[in-house]
Amino acid sequence: MSKRDWEEECGVFGVYDTSGMIDDAANMSYFGLFALQHRGQESAGIAVNQGGRIICHKDQGLVVEVFDTMTLEMLKGHAAVAHVRYPAAGESGNDSIQPMLIRSRSGHLAISQNGAITNAAEIRERLKAAGAIFQTSADFEVVLSLLARNRITTECIEDAVLQMMAEIKGAYSMVIMSNHKLIGVRDPLGIRPLVLGKKGSCYVLASESCALDAVGAELVRDILPGEVITISSEGVSSRHFVPEKTAHEQGRLCIFEFVYFARPDSVLDGASVYESRINAGRTLAREAPCDCDLVIGAPDSGLAAAMGYALEADLPYGSGLLKNRYVGRTFIQPSQLQREMSVQLKFSVLKSAVKGKRVLIVDDSIVRGTTTRHNIALLRDAGALEVHMRVASPPVCYPCFYGINTPEQKELTAGFSSVEEVRRQIGADSLSYISLDGLKSSTAGILCGHCSSCFDGEFPAGVPNKQKDLIHRIHW
Ligand code: AMP
Repeated sequence: MSKRDWEEECGVFGVYDTSGMIDDAANMSYFGLFALQHRGQESAGIAVNQGGRIICHKDQGLVVEVFDTMTLEMLKGHAAVAHVRYPAAGESGNDSIQPMLIRSRSGHLAISQNGAITNAAEIRERLKAAGAIFQTSADFEVVLSLLARNRITTECIEDAVLQMMAEIKGAYSMVIMSNHKLIGVRDPLGIRPLVLGKKGSCYVLASESCALDAVGAELVRDILPGEVITISSEGVSSRHFVPEKTAHEQGRLCIFEFVYFARPDSVLDGASVYESRINAGRTLAREAPCDCDLVIGAPDSGLAAAMGYALEADLPYGSGLLKNRYVGRTFIQPSQLQREMSVQLKFSVLKSAVKGKRVLIVDDSIVRGTTTRHNIALLRDAGALEVHMRVASPPVCYPCFYGINTPEQKELTAGFSSVEEVRRQIGADSLSYISLDGLKSSTAGILCGHCSSCFDGEFPAGVPNKQKDLIHRIHW
């Protein structure tokens, strides 16, 4: 994958005990991050407020590798912000690990951010020209620098945040900790998710509701698009960058959270991720029926959609492919050869289940086609008579500029190829994708609209200047 320095997949978590009596924020963050591990496996970090002093521990690795009991013991405090990260290939390095801390004239700040700022490069140049010094290439350092600068001229941190929101473009959820507050921020279109939970006197902010469940907190509500929520010893209050009444209406939550990224047990902006995957499978069965003997899911991301497909089509559902849980995700491997090799280790086939059968395999998405091609070949080698492919999202034709780790358009299977060409490339007997309308309607109960830029090329929060010329509109 070529390097795109604004590209990150992440999970954020924050906790604040309004009574000031419970100094367990780091332990809660640890469990919260553990539940968000699917959003980033490259690094983890927790910053705590220890009586007005912010201290932080962060490193490369999984949450269980970065923190042990002793470290957590030392991180006592009543408030914390935390982060897991999955950066673009070639972008690892300790400097870019979050949370990031700064000491500004008006106190200490720690920030965890998920998403991407599409005009970060321009803002960085502007701030540099005004004398700012940067240590990393990361977006969140630009955000922090803007915040620190704005804070000099504003009455409170919330005003500095609102001023910053007027300057930055893109998709983001942030948790920011100052000496006395925890602040949650969601971008004006709500492209990246952020939820509020409560456990006793503690308030929790997290990328997904599954992290609230992990710490025993109740889901209070989603943070509104454009909302700046403050939690302090005085309780909870909100400011709004966009009018509160129309915030949901103009919201555009990333639809890929439902397709692939979020955990199935999460509920985002009123819609269950698991239910939406089942619904997408059902819709796919109606839109693209298939004469076959067995429906299987590509593990694990395609299982719910495959179940939905089999239920709707009244076809037998079973296992055909198994996934080795100890092999990391294949996307982040820097070269295509390495990716192919780890895909081989990752999947195995249940020969007796597929031999002599016309198999239909359902997956949530095809991005590069590496995994899909390999799995179809495995099924054929195991004696499947036919292998049909159904995909519970439309062709991924465009890269994501808002925080999902997809490659450049030229590396996307559907970037420049028709469905028939993709079918040939992956070696399937037939291939069909769900329609975009079908996918959108699968997120039943959702309170806002969707960002579906990876499918339709409509980028509601802009495209980084450097990338504009690299996007080619597709008209099939
Ligand atoms: P491929 O056939 O190589 O395009 O791989 C498709 C598989 O990758 C599907 O099972 C998806 O669930 C998964 N996938 C989709 N998007 C991503 C992503 N951003 N990072 C890692 N895996 C992904």
